[in-house]
Formats: sequence, C-alpha cells, structure tokens
Amino acid sequence: MIIGVPKEIKNNENRVALTPAGVTAFSRKGHPVYVQKTAGHGSGFSDEAYAEAGAVMLNTIEEVYAIAEMIIKVKEPIASEYPLIRENQLLFTYFHFASSEELTHAMIAQKAICLAYETVEKDDRSLPLLVPMSEVAGRMSIQEGAKYLEKPMGGRGVLLGGVAGVKPGEVLVLGGGIVGTQAAKMAAGLGAYVTIMDISLPRLRYLDDVMPANVDTLMSNEYNIRQQIQTADLIIGGVLIPGAKAPSLITRDMLKLMRPGTVMVDVAIDQGGCFETSKATTHQEPTYVVDEIVHYCVANMPGAVPYTSTLALTNATLPYALQLADLGWQAACIKNEELRKGLNIVQGTIVYKGVSEAFGLPF
Ligand code: NAD
Repeated sequence: MIIGVPKEIKNNENRVALTPAGVTAFSRKGHPVYVQKTAGHGSGFSDEAYAEAGAVMLNTIEEVYAIAEMIIKVKEPIASEYPLIRENQLLFTYFHFASSEELTHAMIAQKAICLAYETVEKDDRSLPLLVPMSEVAGRMSIQEGAKYLEKPMGGRGVLLGGVAGVKPGEVLVLGGGIVGTQAAKMAAGLGAYVTIMDISLPRLRYLDDVMPANVDTLMSNEYNIRQQIQTADLIIGGVLIPGAKAPSLITRDMLKLMRPGTVMVDVAIDQGGCFETSKATTHQEPTYVVDEIVHYCVANMPGAVPYTSTLALTNATLPYALQLADLGWQAACIKNEELRKGLNIVQGTIVYKGVSEAFGLPF
C-alpha cells in the first residue's frame, strides 16, 4: 500500500504522524512511503533522516494526497485539505467528528475511509491511541504546575519538594485514571506530598497498592474536596466521564477556601474542565487568575512537547497502521476488532453511532 504523510497545517501543531523509524518499518514490508518536506521539523526529524530511512520526499501537500492510498496524520483535516481527499482514500488520524459537523459533512462528501485514532478501542474498553497523550499531559501537569507555583509566575512561591527542615508542597490530584496516575507519580518523584481522589474504589485500591509512601488515596466527594483544597498548593484536574462533560468538582465559591497563589491545572479542559472557573487557554497565554487562584487550562498540552508526543503517539499508532497497510482496511478491520471500532465514516456513510447521534445524521 502507498503511504502518505502530509505536514500538519493546523495552527501550532508540531507533531508528525510517522517518524523515520516508522518509515523503515513500512519500507521493510514493501510499502512505499511519501513524506511532505519539513513534515518532521516541528518534532526534530529532518528531511534527510526520512530519506535515509527510505521515504520519498515530496514538495507539496497536494502531491502527497494525490499519490497515497493511506494518509497517516495527527490532527483532523482542515478545510483547505478537504478537496485533496480522494474517494476510497484511507485516512488514519484523530478526527473527533462529534465536535465538528462541518468536518463530518466534508468527509461524507469526499467518500473517504475515515478511521479515527480516538475510537480505536480494546476489549477492556480502553482507548490505546488516546492513552499516550493522557500520559504526556499527566506528567506535564506537574512540570507546568511547579513552574506557575513560583512567585514571579503568580504562584504561592512554593518549591514542591521542599528542602531539609521545610515541609514539601501538597499536590491534590482529582481523578486517578491515566492523567491522574502519571501526575501523582511525577509529583511524588519530586518529593511532594500527594493525595489522589477518585470515585472508583477498585481504582483507589489499585493506586494505594502501587504508589509510593508519599501518595495517599481518598474517596472523591464534595466534603473531602472542600477539606483538601484548603491546604493544597497545586491541584490537578484529571477526571473523565466517558462521552460526557466533566463534572465541576471545584465551584467558584470554593476558591475562597484556598490560599492565594494556589495553582489549578485543569487537564480535563478538553471535556469542558472540572473546575467551574476553567476556560480553555493556549500555550501562548496558558494561565489567568480568578480570586487570587492561578488557573492553567491549556486544551492541547502535548503540543508543547512535540518530540516526546510524536514518539509516544507513533509508538501506539504504528502497529495498527502496519496492519492496515499489510491487509488493506477491509481485511484488517475484519481481523482486528479494535481497528474496526475506529471506522467512523466509510465511502460517504457514517458507521459510528456516536457521530450519527451527535448531528442526527443517518447511521
Ligand atoms: P481516564 O478515564 O483514564 O481517568 C478518568 C478518571 O476520572 C477515572 O479513574 C474516573 O473514575 C475518574 N472520575 C470520574 N468522575 C470523578 C469524580 N467525580 N471525582 C474523581 N474522579 C472521578 O481519563 P484520562 O485519560 O486520565 O483523561 C482525563 C482527562 O484528561 C480527559 O478529559 C482527557 O480528554 C483529558 N486530556 C487532556 C489533555 C490536554 O491536553 N488538556 C491531554 C490528554 C487528555
């Protein structure tokens, strides 16, 4: 199968869907790979590295779409790419159709095969192509939180690890899933005193087993949250209710219980956020202050570390992409149920229930 890798053109997107290592893997199996020039620059991969790995470098995005049977991307196509997409062309990327009716109609019109990273699903209902970005965001939340706790950045002026004779900072993590677990590990590693809250007792039991001694677990409820926020220096929001807006676990009136300069990092902002006062921010202006509490609500946190994010994402996507190339999308989706769940739109027909429900379109 002929593989095409265009350069991402969405604003501030520096990731790339295939690394030189991925090119080698496709080439070894006899699949030619065409990569748009400079596609890897944002993530630190040169054109020479791709060429050495066996890719043919093309000057324009038009050439990539024109030749490829499978386009591998990171973000959903934007309007200028729609006309480049051909009937029966396989697109393997994040789509998030339910958040864009325009994109949904465009992909129906182009009659492409749209296989969405975000709905590839394992038997245990986990989402293997979303996990790596949650891992990145979870780990990053502590790095960012620690930075904004510094006085010149607007924070309380607390060093998370403390020093000899001075107690460490306190980190409260709401949600003990992928984001929360990674955040807690990082904070614990810095020497902070960490509390993770979740509504799932089995999850808390697991975390209690595997976390180091400076991490406590606590049932998530309003009473406990009100208690904990009074002494926390850094609060991480990492809750998720699949398919629904995140619950507002910290309301505006609760901010006055907190100490001025406390930092709140709302990782769940892409699902609406779990603090009432959260509104999405960007890497250019990541924070704002409400009632003396610093809010960090960047909706695309992994975008700030494209090198790590690209490697993490492609580690997860490559085995699926290789299977698609080896077998063709139809046989691959019959053989692998995880991939079949990724099919969202096929030759002009919506085949994923959530997308049809989002816009009342036929399924
Ligand atoms: P996950 O499903 O692994 O974990 C969510 C956890 O929240 C679960 O353990 C669940 O039991 C818990 N939870 C649900 N309701 C709760 C409540 N009331 N109190 C406490 N815990 C509760 O999800 P995840 O992969 O960790 O993702 C968390 C969020 O981070 C998602 O909204 C995801 O989209 C988002 N995210 C954002 C970015 C970003 O750049 N901002 C990047 C990656 C992921």
